[in-house]
Amino acid sequence: MQADANTDFLIIGAGFAGCVVAERLAAAGWKCVIVDRRGHVGGNAYDETDAAGVLVHRYGPHYFRTNSSRIVQYLSRFTEWHAVAYTIKSFARDRYWSFPVNLNTFEQYQGRSSNSEEFAAWLETVRVGGGEARNSEEAVISQVGRDLYELFFEGYTLKQWQRHPRDLDASVCGRIPLRTNRDERYLTEDFQALPQRGYSALFGNMLEASAGVEVHMGVEFAEARRRWRCRHLVFSGPVDEFFDYQFGPLPYRSLRFEAESFTNGQLEERASIAGKPGFWQPAMQVNYPELAVPFTRIVEIKHATGQQVEATTIVREYPKEWQRGEEPYYPIPAPGAQAAYQRYAQLAAAEEHVSFVGRLATYRYYNMDQVVGMALAEADKLLRRYGSPSSRILD
Ligand code: FAD
Ligand code: UDP
Repeated sequence: MQADANTDFLIIGAGFAGCVVAERLAAAGWKCVIVDRRGHVGGNAYDETDAAGVLVHRYGPHYFRTNSSRIVQYLSRFTEWHAVAYTIKSFARDRYWSFPVNLNTFEQYQGRSSNSEEFAAWLETVRVGGGEARNSEEAVISQVGRDLYELFFEGYTLKQWQRHPRDLDASVCGRIPLRTNRDERYLTEDFQALPQRGYSALFGNMLEASAGVEVHMGVEFAEARRRWRCRHLVFSGPVDEFFDYQFGPLPYRSLRFEAESFTNGQLEERASIAGKPGFWQPAMQVNYPELAVPFTRIVEIKHATGQQVEATTIVREYPKEWQRGEEPYYPIPAPGAQAAYQRYAQLAAAEEHVSFVGRLATYRYYNMDQVVGMALAEADKLLRRYGSPSSRILD
């Protein structure tokens, strides 16, 4: 079938992967078309104001953080930043705990005051194993011992992944820090901030700055392929979908989000729990590691955005099995799943005029900054390969 139109680059997916590649190529003068099956840009980082007037992250909380000044510099062309020391709590045995595990957690656990030296000495007595952790169970018990592992990690991980921590890569739980001081920040990266006016505003600015990028929402990959002829395709959707699931679908984890909003008037009886008026819970995120509770966490993003509004919204997250047609939120960081992905990766590597970029296209549990880094590198590669638009042959 004859395509309706030409473009230099056809880009599938308007998340960080697709938009960053498009912005870089367009800045060099190339014509790009981005399509996405969703009705909005931003991919999973999309945020919006809900009916209560609260800025929420529609696909789960997105805490931007990075150690790369190059990535901060690049994104700062499209946004200013609102610095956030992301802090969370864990709720178990009927109480809130400081989390990730730090000296405050240890004092709560012991029921008395302590100090870093005592905590460090105690850790030496409970740690199990040593050397390189082979899985997430070993990663945690070699740091904090079995009791804290069972209290905070085992149930949460079982709910989140429907797999035991011993069947998941060490990096899954290993990314949660342990500190013997009182530093309560959830994350370790140097730069921790949210886009000042939200992610959707960031994406809007990025695309506005990109003359030469056409954006088409509500368009499936199959339709885009019929509509546009291109010299190169950039694909940021699921790699197994690209290849028509010929080796079967890869395993993913999906989520169900349940939102509930409250006006400030309705929050009065929560004030003693939240610790300040206008909030429902004491931190931006509270994790629920116990198996008896069906959700994994409750997020109240207003703690992080700093938005001034007379209401708040909390979102409960229920992990669920992924089925075809649903959002494949998480690739599974486990050896079996990686082996299955390798078959698709081989097909992908053989595609001369297609780049696979992003979390789903490379089947990796990547954070946003890693995806931005990957997209910048891919754009550089494409610019080296195709040179400047003066060599264009399709127009
Ligand atoms: P996506 O954002 O998934 O974008 C891909 C786009 O492609 C989607 O919009 C999709 O609709 C579109 N698409 C797919 N297939 C097709 C098709 N066939 N046709 C048309 N369109 C298609 N990262 C952090 O750094 N910090 C966090 O706190 C954080 N929290 C997260 C919480 C959750 C619940 C999840 C799921 C992820 C989180 N992440 C976080 C990871 C972050 O979402 C990703 O790193 C980032 O969004 C990946 O960008 P992407 O462009 O690769 O993919
Ligand atoms: N995790 C846990 N208990 C917690 C928090 C995290 O067991 O209270 C484990 C769980 O397996 C989770 C992983 O550590 O998937 C990484 O946690 P993170 O909060 O970074 O997950 P994400 O935000 O990517 O869902």
